[in-house]
Amino acid sequence: MPERDESESPPESSGRGVPEWKTDWKTGDETGIDRSEVDHGGVSPPEAFSMLANETRIEILQALWERRDEPVAFSELHADVDVDRGNFNYHLSKLAEHFVRQTGEGYELREAGKAVIRAVLAGTITHDPRIEPTDLGVPCPLCGGAIEFSYADEFITVRCTSCAGVMGGDVPRGTFMHHTFPPAGLQGRHGIEVLEAARVHYETDLATMLQGVCPECGGTVDRSMHACEEHETDTDGMCTACGSVPDIWVEHVCANCSYSRWCVVWLPILFHPAVIAFVYERQPFESFLELRRLFWVDSGYIDGIERSVVSEAPLEVEVRVPFDGDEIRVTVDEEMRTKNVR
Ligand SMILES: [Zn+2]
Ligand SMILES: [Zn+2]
Ligand SMILES: [Zn+2]
Repeated sequence: MPERDESESPPESSGRGVPEWKTDWKTGDETGIDRSEVDHGGVSPPEAFSMLANETRIEILQALWERRDEPVAFSELHADVDVDRGNFNYHLSKLAEHFVRQTGEGYELREAGKAVIRAVLAGTITHDPRIEPTDLGVPCPLCGGAIEFSYADEFITVRCTSCAGVMGGDVPRGTFMHHTFPPAGLQGRHGIEVLEAARVHYETDLATMLQGVCPECGGTVDRSMHACEEHETDTDGMCTACGSVPDIWVEHVCANCSYSRWCVVWLPILFHPAVIAFVYERQPFESFLELRRLFWVDSGYIDGIERSVVSEAPLEVEVRVPFDGDEIRVTVDEEMRTKNVR
């Protein structure tokens, strides 16, 4: 594969129809509007929440959601909600300040109203389902041991029952994956289907954040690489200083709502078009999802991925992805900007 130094030339097409990884974005603080200038529709967050602290108002929003295809007349909406006319009128007028819009044809949900109903439908507010630890039937990519997954407190956890896995800290020993997944994602899915859905959900979040956009609020995302300076592993492979197996992690955090995702340094590299093209040339796949399944199920892969520090200050890391007797190497800087592909 020809060498290409991306630090010297501006991003453009690589000439094979594969668009460059867009990495050169600016934060709103540098170029855009200030947070204090954003018009929140005249409603402060405490006011918005207090507007919803009432069962009748939630019932009205739900009734509008059920009939969301077209505006609902006052009388029809009232018929759906079991409350006297005076109270109904009062609560509807409160919602009309922020969550509901009145048009010539009737009432309909505004985006803020839809967001409330979606949060209810996602089950995050109303349900607390659990999945007890279940054997996945695939070997641990690190030690060959059994891998199990579980779901509790809206978090999905995948862990090896034999080795230390990759994550330390507050998660159980052997953890590979530990992230939030809405309870609604469990509906109609069983066993590994839940895990697949949770992983796609996570990676989609990550892919959005890699491009500088918060999946929760649309705010700007800062990303930074962190290396453990006193990395020393015990017999388990776990570092006593940073509490994890890998010594380099990438943090993505939203400047507006503080939503954050951490991942090992090689994971974002798997989203790089050059890596996807490299794998596709050697083993064509039907869809993006299949590629990701490949990385997860074919344990030989993840085991073979290596990273090496090219420069300590400023930090630059090269990630090597081996495949089918060949390999591709991608170098990134502290903010995960591509420096080199070869
Ligand atoms: Zn293991
Ligand atoms: Zn460490
Ligand atoms: Zn955000």
